[in-house]
Amino acid sequence: MQLFICPFCGPRAETEFHFGGDAGNLRPEGDVDAMAWSNYLYFRDNSRGAVKEIWMHLPCREVFAMERDTVTHEVHATHALTGEERP
Ligand SMILES: [Zn+2]
Repeated sequence: MQLFICPFCGPRAETEFHFGGDAGNLRPEGDVDAMAWSNYLYFRDNSRGAVKEIWMHLPCREVFAMERDTVTHEVHATHALTGEERP
């Protein structure tokens, strides 16, 4: 079992976390067409290697950013969200 580090609670089992999407995939603002919504909701990058993602720690309900490697599964960093990362 892999451990993820919640920036608010510390190391916890990965089963306590929920994936929230790619960091920087921001919700479209204003009057946007269906294609923009479709791209936001259904089309994701499936990057190999270093990625930055949004995760939620279910027990504390806090949302945070995680930098990890999709190949090695190594977690490089976790931190509270900045304004640019908020979904
Ligand atoms: Zn937590």
